[in-house]
Amino acid sequence: MAKVIIALDQGTTSSRSILYDSGLRKIDQVQKEFTQHFPRPGWVEHDADEIWETQWGTLSLLLERNNVKAGDIAAMGITNQRETVVAWDNRTGKPLARAIVWQDRRTAAFCQGLKRKGAEAGVRRKTGLVLDPYFSGSKMHWLLKHDPAVRKAAAAGRLAFGTIDSWLIWKLTGGNRHVTEVGNASRTLLMDIESRAWDKRLLKLFGVPAESLPEILDSDALFGEASLPGLEGVKIHGAAGDQQASLFGHRCFSPGSLKNTYGTGCFLLRNVGNRYIAPPKGLLGTVAWTLKGKTTYAHEGAVMIGGAVVQFLRDGLKIIDSAAQSEELAATLPGNEGVYFVPAFAGLGTPHWDPDARGLIIGLTRGTTRAHLCRAALESIAYQSMDLCRAFGGGIKALNVDGGASGNRLLMQFQADVTGAEVRVNRSPEVTALGAAMLAALGCGLIASQRDLLKLDLRLDIFKPAMAAGTRKALADRWHKAVERSLGWA
Ligand code: ADP
Repeated sequence: MAKVIIALDQGTTSSRSILYDSGLRKIDQVQKEFTQHFPRPGWVEHDADEIWETQWGTLSLLLERNNVKAGDIAAMGITNQRETVVAWDNRTGKPLARAIVWQDRRTAAFCQGLKRKGAEAGVRRKTGLVLDPYFSGSKMHWLLKHDPAVRKAAAAGRLAFGTIDSWLIWKLTGGNRHVTEVGNASRTLLMDIESRAWDKRLLKLFGVPAESLPEILDSDALFGEASLPGLEGVKIHGAAGDQQASLFGHRCFSPGSLKNTYGTGCFLLRNVGNRYIAPPKGLLGTVAWTLKGKTTYAHEGAVMIGGAVVQFLRDGLKIIDSAAQSEELAATLPGNEGVYFVPAFAGLGTPHWDPDARGLIIGLTRGTTRAHLCRAALESIAYQSMDLCRAFGGGIKALNVDGGASGNRLLMQFQADVTGAEVRVNRSPEVTALGAAMLAALGCGLIASQRDLLKLDLRLDIFKPAMAAGTRKALADRWHKAVERSLGWA
């Protein structure tokens, strides 16, 4: 049997394991959703044990169902929801608290306090980020301040902090390796983006003890060897945060190339080359990946609630049974009929960076139906992505896209219409997982170079803009008026 590659894709709403052949063609995939905990308004938590159990569950089923043995696997790659923080005991390996998820807003006041003290400019210069609850640093600070078990473990030298990549590698290696991938580390607010090392002053600012943090490794490094039954000795040879993995999966290898992903949130990343360039206002600077010691940087625009607004219609309001039904209902209307939905459930990201913005639905009349809410919700995903494109200076002619909500054709056509850009949907929606598989294949030498990756066949669905410029402008203006009303609400 020719060697296979396995990608673990630990997303915000589900864990997936995907099997690829040696030419990186997908053979099979297993996916399992896990619980979202919302203990208070603005708080979002995951159970780190459940994350691991669903990840391991999907992986074992994938191996069993395809009769794959450890010796058949060339390497494993990991991609993961970014910024989410896990704290565990480095002796028992047990989580000390629920993981605080990237969307969680509980540290808004703390971040605001740091801003008032004038810390933001320095933090932005060092990290490329902004002082927002989104990133890991303030979440670690919160756990150390408010969770007795975390504080106690820190005092006893037993605290291990990590993002999800770190946690999965720890579990896969039976606690042998406490490491993280550089792109993931670049999202913590604790790493100097140019030297790619933890920064002493940032650690002090967030009160995070250096010994609690993992070692930072390149994206194609040997992260460790698995020590689980049926997987003994399998090399973990690639890792990247989900958005970086998607940028890699789209093969945005050259400066200027970009992609937008429609998952729980929407994230537009543009490759800016091998030299760090400070990002323009409203955008973030981030490590895309480091391969064989050479770093590629990216600029990023982030939308906190993208596809998640459809989940809210399904699970919160219960007005649809499935995400796909949002398209059917929205398509029964000729347009939004004046209804706008700003899904600022977790504040707003690019370009506002307002943690106090909150969701609103405006323009309701007695004639409003659930179809209007579906339409407005889907359009909100497109408007927010339009604002991402604008933050990049506009002029984007084509958008490579992927992610769960990119399967919604009405949304993709509307996206092309409101941005005036051609939208190229990757037909395999798991570009993120493919990116992780590519990194692992490069890391273990199964594929020799990025040039070889460019030869892989990726099939696209193309949506061309068809809306009159006047209509586009009228819709965008109205959207921006709705957004203004949502700012600073909390
Ligand atoms: P993540 O990796 O962030 O968990 P995925 O890429 O798996 O996200 O996408 C899941 C998201 O896509 C969910 O928020 C879901 O509501 C949304 N989604 C899935 N299918 C559709 C659809 N047909 N229309 C709109 N949104 C969808």
